[in-house]
Amino acid sequence: MSYDLVCANCSGLVELGRCSVCRASREQLRAQRALPASWLLLAAALLGLLFLFAR
Ligand SMILES: [Zn+2]
Repeated sequence: MSYDLVCANCSGLVELGRCSVCRASREQLRAQRALPASWLLLAAALLGLLFLFAR
């Protein structure tokens, strides 16, 4: 996964985190991308519990 977004503040790659704006948007991007994964994990855990109780 690559973050090839260019920062509006320092015109460097956001992924490099050259300035505070870069680092802030990079963290925001990671949080946004991590959220669906955690929801999937939660759904998988719930499904596992369902199978456990269905038996
Ligand atoms: Zn920047």
